[in-house]
This record gives sequence, C-alpha cells and structure tokens, in this order.
Amino acid sequence: MADRYFPNEMPDFVEEQEGAVAQSTLHSFLCLPYTKLADKFLRAALDLKEKVVKETWLRNGRRVKDFTLYTGALGTAFLLFKAYQVTNNLSDLSLCGEIIRACDSVSAGSRHVTFICGRAGVCALGAVVAKHAGDNVLLNHYLSSFSEIKTRDVPNELLYGKVGYLWACSFLNKHIGESTIPSTHMSPVAKEIILDGKRLSNKGSCPLMYEWHGKKYWGAAHGLAGIMHVLMDMELKPEDKECIKGTLSYMINHRFPSGNYPSSQGSNSDRLVHWCHGAPGVALTLIKASQVFQDEQILGAAEEAAKVVWSRGLLKRVGICHGISGNTYVFLSLYRLTGRVEYLYRAKAFACFLLDRANQLIADGRMNSGDRPYSMFEGQAGMAHLFLDMIRPSESRFPGYEL
Ligand SMILES: [Zn+2]
Repeated sequence: MADRYFPNEMPDFVEEQEGAVAQSTLHSFLCLPYTKLADKFLRAALDLKEKVVKETWLRNGRRVKDFTLYTGALGTAFLLFKAYQVTNNLSDLSLCGEIIRACDSVSAGSRHVTFICGRAGVCALGAVVAKHAGDNVLLNHYLSSFSEIKTRDVPNELLYGKVGYLWACSFLNKHIGESTIPSTHMSPVAKEIILDGKRLSNKGSCPLMYEWHGKKYWGAAHGLAGIMHVLMDMELKPEDKECIKGTLSYMINHRFPSGNYPSSQGSNSDRLVHWCHGAPGVALTLIKASQVFQDEQILGAAEEAAKVVWSRGLLKRVGICHGISGNTYVFLSLYRLTGRVEYLYRAKAFACFLLDRANQLIADGRMNSGDRPYSMFEGQAGMAHLFLDMIRPSESRFPGYEL
C-alpha cells in the first residue's frame, strides 16, 4: 500500500518567519513569508506553462489529436486562461483562443458531452475566452454550438455523463452571466439524474445510486461524489435536496475505519486516495455540502477526510486526477471555507513538496510522469495550475470541478 504514496514526513505546522534556520530547501520554502513564496510559485508556474505549450502544442505542429481538458489540448488552453487571469498577459489569452479553435474543429461531432472529456468543455471555455477577448461573433458561435449538444442516452457521471454537461452549463452561467443557460434547460436534466438515482437505489438505505460500466462508483470522476457535487448547484425540490443529503450521510456512515472512502459500493479495498476515487474527491463534495446544507457534521466529516489526504495523499504522481496537485485542492477548499491557516499550511506543504522535489523525483523515476506527462488531469499542466492557484489561495478552484 505504501508504494502508492510518499510517507508524509512534513511537520504538522511551520510558522512563516523570515531568516529562519531551515533543515532543507523544502523547510526553507515553508518558512518563507507568503508573498515571497507566492513569487516562487509564479515563476515556477510560468516556466511550466511554457514547457506545457511547447510539449503539447508547438511540438505537435499546432495540431490537436486529443481535444479534451483531461489529457488533451483543451487542458493547455485552460492553463493559459488561468495564467491570463493571474497575470493579464494578453498573449496567453490569444494563444488560448487559438488552441480552442483547433479543439473546436476536432471535437465537432464528438459524442462526448462533458466539460472535462467532451464537446461542452470546448464550447464553454471557448465562449468564456471569446468574451474576455471582446469577440462577440466568436462568443455567439460557441454558445450556439453549445446549444446543439444533446445529453440523451449518456450516463450520469462527471467525466462522460449528464452532470459533466450540467457543470459546463453552470460554468457558462458563472462566467458569461446568469441564465446564459436558463434553469428551464438545466432542471429537466437534473430531474432525470435524480430519477435514475432513485430507480437504482430502489428504496435502499442510500437514497440515490448510480452505475457506470456496471459498477456503483462512489468517487468524483465516475460516481456519487461527482454527481452530488454538481447536483447541489441545480434548482431542485426540497425532497430531492434531502435525497442528496441522505446520500452523503450514507457515504459518511459507510466509509472505511481509516476515514477513507471506497471507490465503489461494497469494495473492501482501502487503497486509493485520489480525487477520482477515494477521500479527496469525497472531501470536496462534503466541503460544498457543508455550505449548501449549513451542516457542521458534514464539515466535520470533510475535515476527517482531509486528514486521510494529509497522511496518505502525497502520491507518486503530480496530476490533478490522481496526483499530489489534485489532492492539494482539498486543503485549499477547506482554507477558503474556514479561513484556518492550518489548511493553508497543508496546501502549501503539498505544493512546496512538488515545487522542491517533483522534477528530480520524475527524473529519478521515483515519481510516475504518466502517459500524458504534460496534460491537465494526469500531468504537469495540473501542477502549473495549482502553482497559479497558490498565488491567490482564496480564489483557488479545482480545475473543471469547483466553480
Ligand atoms: Zn484519476
């Protein structure tokens, strides 16, 4: 089990103190006053962004094979947009727009409908970037392309299913303006998802249940955590909201004794501590639920899940989906909600571990760089995104998941 992650030997807390005597480079990063550390994150993020653009775009002759946010060119575009939001560098915005246009032609006709793995991501990010660029013709093009996406006969989960499409709708409403996608369009889809969940639960002790490829997943990518996360943003009847809360209570009551969460219903394997499967993805959903339902017990469960991430979440991968970068967002999210400096420290510790050691660990083969080493969800684009979020932690958002 221990080979999936590095033992976390970092102190539980380190006071920021200029000129402190440090035992290692990593420790010296943790002692730095935040503004100085933020400068380091910015420099590292911008260097990484250049590397990601070179490896995923220029080296491919500015052509797109995989258009998705998850492993493909849209991930590079998303990173450029984030960099533009932090630095206001217009050439990042312009290159971002160029990459999305290439994704647009490759994804036209794709049967995948979600933000992270499908056409909705291209059209929604395209629209938002066009708005920032002041290009109304392009904005209308992407919005009208978005309106052609059909969710009939797709599953319910986040990466390939209906909630992954609804998330894109919410993203448009947040960044373009309320009712860009009216609730009269989103609610029927949300209702179908709830009905499907009740059907499979069959009045069982968990009010909603879903299946993807024959398995009842619990995690953020394919299961309950991701579905509940998106449904909480929808306009729903009070009884359906109670079903969401009941589903989350069921998960909390049936977690492993370690505090981690099974990857699927009935699984006894307490192994994965990823955003996609396990405590990190569930924690993000519980953090949001504690706000939506104003419930201290749910917040307590989220904090318990975050303890698992601290002890077993220093994974031997850098990415967002099943790597250290994604796991760091649990602490950022708790920091945003509670304002507690301990959570900012934990986020800082994970991010500094990457800043200090990731390159060397990858070069030594002690960290797995994955099949798509520069992608957003599996690779270093995700790490660059995290570093950009560390500059203004109170505005951080897990890419493609937190609004
Ligand atoms: Zn994963």
